[in-house]
Amino acid sequence: TASIIDGKKIAQHIQSTTAERVSQLKEKGITPGLAVILVGNNQASRTYVSMKRKACEKIGMHSVLIELADDTTEEGLINKVNELNEDNTIHGILVQLPLPSQIDEINIIESIDPNKDVDGFHPINVGRLMTGGEAFYPCTPYGIIEMLKYEQVELRGKHAVVVGRSNIVGKPMGQLLLKEDATVTYCHSRTADLAYHTKQADIIIAAVGIRNLITADHIKDGAVIIDVGMNRDDEGKLCGDVDYQNCLPKAGAITPVPGGVGPMTITMLLANTAESAERTLTRKTQS
Ligand code: NAD
Repeated sequence: TASIIDGKKIAQHIQSTTAERVSQLKEKGITPGLAVILVGNNQASRTYVSMKRKACEKIGMHSVLIELADDTTEEGLINKVNELNEDNTIHGILVQLPLPSQIDEINIIESIDPNKDVDGFHPINVGRLMTGGEAFYPCTPYGIIEMLKYEQVELRGKHAVVVGRSNIVGKPMGQLLLKEDATVTYCHSRTADLAYHTKQADIIIAAVGIRNLITADHIKDGAVIIDVGMNRDDEGKLCGDVDYQNCLPKAGAITPVPGGVGPMTITMLLANTAESAERTLTRKTQS
């Protein structure tokens, strides 16, 4: 039977480390600050934003919420981002996605100062993830790497199969695994024989959004299964992409949904914001 990876416990551990970093920064006169911009009235976005703010405040960070109307123009939003780019009390800027249709997400992401892009979506950070150098990594895949390290899952030389190729999860996940010397395979909606690939995996990352896509027949004995999916079952309960009950006896380790990857995402947002504030210190001493 698989060991169950406790995302809540790992998240709490990293958050307490981050809280210590925050208090050390405060001793040096810097309070890490995160600004979250919410455009429109999407209820799910509103919930995410309030969770992010609460987590910030809990570890002593400064958090600002900027709420803009549903009919905000792209230019209006960019002006707001520019203000925050210039604001010395703000170390992280997050524009909650999705945005209303009149606004081009790519233009907004590119308007954020890469040094404050704690979501890690700016092309500069995406590029640096690939080429090396100082970057912010997208929070969900970054959290998964931290989780695997905490659990001491060997990555070097192992075969990791990433299912899903989105810009926020799948693609950066593969790059981060590559940095850890894993051999990486990407699968996606056009993959011809998904099970053929996943059955060879030492580590499977499922980031698709289809309930029960990964069954016991898709995995080899002892594989480590990380389930990023957030779906609803027939009773409306949160569930992942993996058929958890049937994979449990066969897998080596597995993340539950909820309580697996979910808690890690916000945790790494906090870590990135602390990191951003720390970098301003080193930049000051250099100049
Ligand atoms: P997305 O819709 O942008 O991407 C889904 C990916 O799945 C695509 O790249 C597509 O090629 C692939 N795919 C679709 N059908 C497939 C199939 N039949 N076989 C193999 N691959 C297939 O989604 P996303 O933003 O990457 O999110 C994926 C899932 O993870 C969603 O359920 C989302 O809610 C969840 N998610 C969770 C967290 C978290 O913190 N736990 C964070 C982000 C996303």
